[in-house]
Amino acid sequence: MTRIIDIHIHIQPLDMLKPAALEVIQRSLSDFAQIQKFSASPAAFLRYLDAAGVERAGLISYVSPEVIGYTAEATDWNARYCSAAPDRLIAFGSVHPKYVTDAAAEVDRLVKIGIRALKVHPSHQLFAPNAYRDGLGPLAAIYERAKATGLPVMVHTGTSIFPGARNAYAQPILADDLGVDFPDLVVILAHGGRPLWMDEAFFLIRRHKNMFMDISGIPPQKLLEHFPRLEEIADKVLFGTDWPGPGVPDVRTNIEKFLALPLSESAQRKILYDNAARLFPRSSSW
Ligand SMILES: [Zn+2]
Repeated sequence: MTRIIDIHIHIQPLDMLKPAALEVIQRSLSDFAQIQKFSASPAAFLRYLDAAGVERAGLISYVSPEVIGYTAEATDWNARYCSAAPDRLIAFGSVHPKYVTDAAAEVDRLVKIGIRALKVHPSHQLFAPNAYRDGLGPLAAIYERAKATGLPVMVHTGTSIFPGARNAYAQPILADDLGVDFPDLVVILAHGGRPLWMDEAFFLIRRHKNMFMDISGIPPQKLLEHFPRLEEIADKVLFGTDWPGPGVPDVRTNIEKFLALPLSESAQRKILYDNAARLFPRSSSW
């Protein structure tokens, strides 16, 4: 059987969302009750993953009081949620550089509660991923500490339709500086710059040895149109769906469409499983 890691899924504390953000999510979902059920029960969500044939999943969480409504509490919620099955659920968390007094200490705290990667969402957190070059000092401390503690950093790239999102921060090229200033930090460009800046993402992951991308939020049937040279970067690409985000009907349908692409077997295996398994090894204590 094909082994699959979906590195980009949003199961979240719905009651902590801003009303305007909740409305966008509700509008795009055909079955909101199902999402409520999964948010309340990791066991129910794990059964959904089983049915979809997904072995492990990255659950995304980030602090965005500005656009989404989430404070640091949302990250703690995610860590607790994923602790129900740490061998299968990979908890992403976030440190917002504008709202912490000691950014490095907060990264350490997140590691202790089980967070395995950080998410930076520039268009929802309202700073550029390279804003440390313009004086946002705590952001550099976050990257430094993530590197030191072995946490990959996922950076959102690509457009967002959430009210208040600022898409000028969402261009992949703004993350070029991360590859220059933190060459040993693992950076994952979420969504590969979809749909406006895919050529930027392609360039960056070829340029920087520790820069990767996920293909979540890109309709799989369009993937090779957007990345005709995907085979060349197959070592640096992670499968993800962004489910239940806008325009992603369900995880299994997404997988089937990906499997139908004319990719080599080795590229398919790397993207669906091997690359993410390498970045997020199962620790023996889990
Ligand atoms: Zn997402």
